[in-house]
Amino acid sequence: MGRGMEDVRRSGSGGVGSRLFLIYAGASLVPVLLLGLVLADKDRSAGVSLGLDQGRAQAAVIEQTAIAPAVGGDDLAAGLSGSELAHIRQATDLAIFAGSVTRLRLRSFGGGVVFSDDGSGGADALPSVDPAFRSAAAGRTSVAVVADPAGSRDRVIRVVQPVVPNSTGQATGILEIYLPYAAIAARVQSELRSTYTGLAVGLGAMYAILALISWSTTRRLRRHAAERHHQALHDSLTGLPNREWFRINAEAALGRAERGERGALVLIDLNHFKDVNDTLGHHVGDALLKVVADRLRGSLRTDDTVARLGGDEFGLVLPGLPQPGQAVALLETIRTVLSEEIIIDSVSLSVEASFGIALYPTHGASVEQLLQRADAAMYQAKASTADIVVYAQADPAAPRPSPVIHAELRQALDHDQLVLHYQPQIELATGRIEGVEALVRWQHPGRGLLLPHEFVPTAEESGLIEHLTDWVLLRALSDQHEWIARGVDWRVSVNVSARNLSCPGFAERVISLVADMASDPRRLCLEVTETALTARPAAASAAVKALSAAGIAIAIDDFGTGYTGLWQLRTASVDEIKIDRTFVSNLTTSAQDRSIVQAIIGLSHGLGCTVTAEGVESQATAQWLHTANCDLAQGYYFARPAPWPELLPRLAEPPSFFSPDPGIPQPTMSLR
Ligand code: C2E
Ligand code: CA
Ligand code: CA
Repeated sequence: MGRGMEDVRRSGSGGVGSRLFLIYAGASLVPVLLLGLVLADKDRSAGVSLGLDQGRAQAAVIEQTAIAPAVGGDDLAAGLSGSELAHIRQATDLAIFAGSVTRLRLRSFGGGVVFSDDGSGGADALPSVDPAFRSAAAGRTSVAVVADPAGSRDRVIRVVQPVVPNSTGQATGILEIYLPYAAIAARVQSELRSTYTGLAVGLGAMYAILALISWSTTRRLRRHAAERHHQALHDSLTGLPNREWFRINAEAALGRAERGERGALVLIDLNHFKDVNDTLGHHVGDALLKVVADRLRGSLRTDDTVARLGGDEFGLVLPGLPQPGQAVALLETIRTVLSEEIIIDSVSLSVEASFGIALYPTHGASVEQLLQRADAAMYQAKASTADIVVYAQADPAAPRPSPVIHAELRQALDHDQLVLHYQPQIELATGRIEGVEALVRWQHPGRGLLLPHEFVPTAEESGLIEHLTDWVLLRALSDQHEWIARGVDWRVSVNVSARNLSCPGFAERVISLVADMASDPRRLCLEVTETALTARPAAASAAVKALSAAGIAIAIDDFGTGYTGLWQLRTASVDEIKIDRTFVSNLTTSAQDRSIVQAIIGLSHGLGCTVTAEGVESQATAQWLHTANCDLAQGYYFARPAPWPELLPRLAEPPSFFSPDPGIPQPTMSLR
């Protein structure tokens, strides 16, 4: 489907999607980790206070079960009796030997030790100024993890709390108790470990879910972006690449052309597609376009590109074709495939198309230029009998004709949307305007001023040409009356189609119109092409004879482009020969054209015809024609076609072409 497309696909949305996912996953990992740290920290401190709570509870149990029942109600400062000491020792030994208590002391509120499990006096005693001691003296229990006062490396939990004998319920002293922290710490540790594991598993699951959500979201985004990308570059009806993608591919092909690749850019326009739409409906039109798209796709090579450029227009980029003939051969195959019968809604259709080829790099260095030239070639194909036309340098600037529908043109005629511009025909001997040629234009309400090639062919095909020619004749003769009224005696020339001439009654209609308008037939000239005379020779020559007999002048238009020889015109009552501008435009550069023009002038004069040169664009050309004895000249050098009042000021300024131009060899003979 073309190399340029792969480039586009590569630069497309895939990379963007995975990058997006990584960013999303990375970003969501940070809060999850932070949350984990906060929770773990909370849990660790919760573990420590859990240890302390356990110590407090253990100490409370010892106080209530071993100490409180053993002591009497007297203040401990008074000392303990022998029986009290024996009871306490008995009770506490059990706990101490069981290892649940490391050390235990009873103190008076003054701080003096009245009982210690190991009989020590109190050098390591808790001073009575210690906040823990004071808070116990005030009736509160305080718990802390401290270094073992016995000097071991293990840490211990110290609980300091009041001693409240069962007999009185009044605090009589302080109980200072040390519990081994290692066991509690180990328990807390193992609890913490399982909490951490749970936390890690939970957070991991949460992260996985988040990542999953983000992955599926980015995937959806990616798919969406890819769809949008596809839509932006494809035609929705046929699924073919659209104009945009076509352009990208053509640009890529031109890039490769710089490295020596040669190829073709082709425009394809279906013939009469509009009729299908109009008569069979849009759904048939759509179905037809799809079939055409499939057939085009199916008949191309892998590296070729086919795109729908809009409507019934398709474009091809065909790389790697060094010879024009190869492009033509490929298109001939495509044409054959396209023309195979298509049945839609049980209607049998066949597709014909016009192909315009521009070769790169020969015909242009930019896509724009290539498109323009392929377009020109395509319209040439439409206008001629050849369906496949390779662009020829001849007329690159030719404006693009666009087919016009018959109904619209009929309306234009009825609503007076046509206008006539006139181009002067200059008498070379004097520089004065001898006559003017009427050239029709259509002031289209939506598309501006249309030139004849954009609608005259439609008029000719549809039969509206008779109507159109009648309109032009009537308008030209009326305009002529107006300039005559302004004191100007220009002859008027009107173009007549082949179809007019072969149409029965045409000559009679013109003759009676001239009579009705009270115009001078000798001041009217009808311009007829060579092909018009040869198309249906009998009818045409009868018409020409009748018109000529009525005094109306007949000119052979575009002379030199058809196949008529001058000798065939001898019998045809022709008054004037108009040399086609293709010979005239190259007079300054082509010796061959100069010989041809010189010969035409001589022979025409020999037949008694006046000679007009068309398409005179320079003073040098006018000068040469004058020297060559050409009678009249017409062209942009003198004036472009314009509404007749705009030509009036030109009467005052005679042309200045009479100084010999040394640039062109002057004519050497004259047969006049
Ligand atoms: P044509 O009869 O050969 O008319 C002369 C064409 O050459 C005109 O184009 C005119 O504008 C153009 N032209 C004049 N001087 C120069 C020049 O110096 N250089 C160049 N490059 N071109 C020049 P336009 O007006 O576009 O008419 C094109 C054709 O359309 C005419 O060719 C004629 O065949 C046809 N046409 C024009 N009006 C009518 C009409 O009323 N009826 C019919 N049947 N055909 C018409
Ligand atoms: Ca003409
Ligand atoms: Ca002409």
